[in-house]
Amino acid sequence: MQTVIGLEIHVQLSTRTKLFCPCRADYFEAPPNTLTCPVCLGLPGALPVLNKRAVELALRIALALGSEVRERSVFDRKNYFYPDLPKGYQITHHDEPLARGGRFTFFVDGHARTVRIRQVHLEEDAGKLVHVGDGALVDFNRCGVPLVEIVTEPDFRSAKEARAFLQELRTLLRHLGVSSGDMEKGAVRCDANLSVQVGDRPGTRTEIKNLNSFRAVERALQAAEEYHRELLAAGETIAQVTFGWDDHADRLVVQRTKEQAQDYRYFPDPDLVPLVVTAEWLARVRAGMPELPRARALRWLERHKLTPAEVEALLPEPALANYFDRVAGELGDGKTAASWVLAELRQYWTGEEPPLPAEDLVLLIRKVGAGEISRTTGKELLAEAAQTGKSLPELLARPDLVQLGDEQALVQVAQEVIAAHPQAVADFRAGKAQALGFLVGQAMKKTEGRADAKKLGEILRRLLSP
Ligand SMILES: [Zn+2]
Repeated sequence: MQTVIGLEIHVQLSTRTKLFCPCRADYFEAPPNTLTCPVCLGLPGALPVLNKRAVELALRIALALGSEVRERSVFDRKNYFYPDLPKGYQITHHDEPLARGGRFTFFVDGHARTVRIRQVHLEEDAGKLVHVGDGALVDFNRCGVPLVEIVTEPDFRSAKEARAFLQELRTLLRHLGVSSGDMEKGAVRCDANLSVQVGDRPGTRTEIKNLNSFRAVERALQAAEEYHRELLAAGETIAQVTFGWDDHADRLVVQRTKEQAQDYRYFPDPDLVPLVVTAEWLARVRAGMPELPRARALRWLERHKLTPAEVEALLPEPALANYFDRVAGELGDGKTAASWVLAELRQYWTGEEPPLPAEDLVLLIRKVGAGEISRTTGKELLAEAAQTGKSLPELLARPDLVQLGDEQALVQVAQEVIAAHPQAVADFRAGKAQALGFLVGQAMKKTEGRADAKKLGEILRRLLSP
């Protein structure tokens, strides 16, 4: 028995305005029905005008997936009746989509997997029903928000693969700057289909609608797989069922039993001319593409010798990845940069902006590297700068720190320690190497741990050598 899974991923594009009207598209915290106009409410006589930016973001996705962008694509009307769809139809690419084909490689348990992409197309989102008591209210703010739908071939063989794919796809979308990728806010939603093939005979497909977390995708597909295998093992036939997923109960919920052959009566929207993507336009979009996360990961592994765990920690958040690249670039040492960014800086990064400018972190790492301050002091200064907003150069100018960076001052400390511990000095001269560690410890105590232990060790060794 072979599990066969395909995914349809809806990605909300982070454009300023909606797909066919000038209404703002960032509806998430807006009061209900405040971001609407005659176009997205489908009032008579209103005419849609295509958002060029949305097309460009969709093209980025298509290019990143290696899809073949079609010169001419056509927006159809998909007709159906639902309260959150005021026009009575959704405008969507249908049989003449924006792009076809492509592939995406991702990693599962350290192994590369590639799945084929069937198509990439643009469509508008519907509104939202808000259930209140026995009734439902409708909020049209989301109507007309641009979506890209990515349809894969049925190339996944397990729920785990589907989840890993989605996680890496989201990283890609965020690096492309096309979507927030925020699944909790519905910016990426996933429909899945699953069948279990026995021998050469394809199995009956089950659909699962509206999965909006990585966990939900994996759990729902696992549950559907179990359902299929149990029925097949019992010799029963599988009915065509559309499921939803109840996250709280952690189980599938039947939405529709028999697939009602829905006739959407697709036809080209007479208000919209075909979309033509010229070679020049496509070349401009291609030229503006950022480095893709997979290429970035390889560069980090090869040039900076980062570990896969470090890459995995730095990559998903583009702002963190960019920050790391700036620090590593200026410092010329990716390993050290990664260690500081991940172990020290990241914990203070709460908002949009980094807690410390990249050039300040570089300065700090250099001071530690040169032995002017200890790593402990460096960490403390970083914490203080991040938490108080004080500038790092200002903190570094503190008199006690200047003194610790000063070789003369450290020699003085070393001499005091030598004078205070004749026994340890004698031990060291008698060949007991660990006595030096004790003396360094005493010297560190004197500087309250702020001096550089390595540098103190060198000074002590020099002073004690005959
Ligand atoms: Zn509008």
